[in-house]
Amino acid sequence: MFDRPVYLDHNATTPTDPTVLEAMLPFFCEHYGNAASRAHRYGWVAEQAYDDAREQVAALIGASRREIVFTSGATESNNLAIKGVAEMYADRGRHIVTVATEHHAVLDPCDYLRDHRGCDVTVLGVDAEGRVDVDAVAEAIGDETILISVMLASNETGTLQPLGDIARIAKDRGVLVHTDAVQAVGRIPVDVNELGVDLLSMSGHKLYGPKGVGALYVRRKGPRVRLSPQMHGGGHERGLRSGTLNTPGIVGMGAACDLARRTMADESSRQGGLRDRLERMLSERIPYIKQNGCVEARLPNTSNLTFAFVEGEALMMKMKTIAVSSGSACSSAADEASHVLRAMGLPEALAHASLRFSLGRGTDVADVDYAVDCLTRAVADLRRISPLYDAACDNGDASGIEWFSGEPKASETS
Ligand SMILES: *Cc1c(COP(=O)(O)O)cnc(C)c1O
Repeated sequence: MFDRPVYLDHNATTPTDPTVLEAMLPFFCEHYGNAASRAHRYGWVAEQAYDDAREQVAALIGASRREIVFTSGATESNNLAIKGVAEMYADRGRHIVTVATEHHAVLDPCDYLRDHRGCDVTVLGVDAEGRVDVDAVAEAIGDETILISVMLASNETGTLQPLGDIARIAKDRGVLVHTDAVQAVGRIPVDVNELGVDLLSMSGHKLYGPKGVGALYVRRKGPRVRLSPQMHGGGHERGLRSGTLNTPGIVGMGAACDLARRTMADESSRQGGLRDRLERMLSERIPYIKQNGCVEARLPNTSNLTFAFVEGEALMMKMKTIAVSSGSACSSAADEASHVLRAMGLPEALAHASLRFSLGRGTDVADVDYAVDCLTRAVADLRRISPLYDAACDNGDASGIEWFSGEPKASETS
């Protein structure tokens, strides 16, 4: 048994790596200087720490040090990128293109610009696998379009978007591209120049760094991207983000990026193997489950599964010893079916019957096998009292969904 729930919710947040914490600690009580103090050593030490961290963050995404702006997290990075472009380029146009499956930290700033700043926003749909159609993006671009914001990897399904193709088209048309790459950075290779993106958001606490720190990559060459700052004050971060910098957080973000760069390849294949094991075992043991998202283009650590005839929330309540997420962490509080799964065409009831499993560095085989056992039992228990499940077993399923595995097993129907 485990003394605390098995954590399979790494897309919601990750633990701070102990080596990251260790790197941060001297910057609380010892090196507490403010880099704005240019006249003494305390300030210089802080300045050097930012330089080093900027280098570490940049190295993970193929950027250069001066293209990294530190923020309080990806929500702020997304806001700065989207509102910053909309304001700065307002005289060129007011049209923004984004996708229905984006995180609310992208969708909500776009809604704000539409409702309060006179912008025109096109929200593109996705196919059943959660991918946006590159041609649809091309068609959505008009003379007024200034920005396309498309995430690299979905926090809910792990699905990867064809971002490189989108960026190529955008470049031809002179449109800037922003990507919320929070879930991709540190899990799969990300290179801003290979992708051809102009702005990229990342978050410390999604890659084993601390909470409350993030970064925005802002392209400096080809083109040089300009942004209207959203926070005004002392002119920190080259005027793009005023406010005394969070030194320990930034040092932690740098250390986390450095660690990710060194361990990513091994960890990705290890976690991918465990994720496949989870899906294989579940599909062998539980009938009527469906994998949501793209199979080929997907993060290695994420599995989003629908357990038909079961309420995701009820399932989670039954399994207090495994920590997972139903739909998105943000929408589960509002008890609304995930907007991501709905955009993929999943009916409301099936969206509610879905759980997200996101593995991490701490996940091992025992965790996966334990989760499989818990799920198998919990799903069977809930289905035993489900009249819909009874009916489906009698009729041989009527929902028209393509399930992972075939017929319900005899043991389940009795
Ligand atoms: C977690 C997350 C965010 C928000 O990041 P914070 O640093 O917590 O503000 C934004 N986008 C995606 C895809 C996320 O998963």
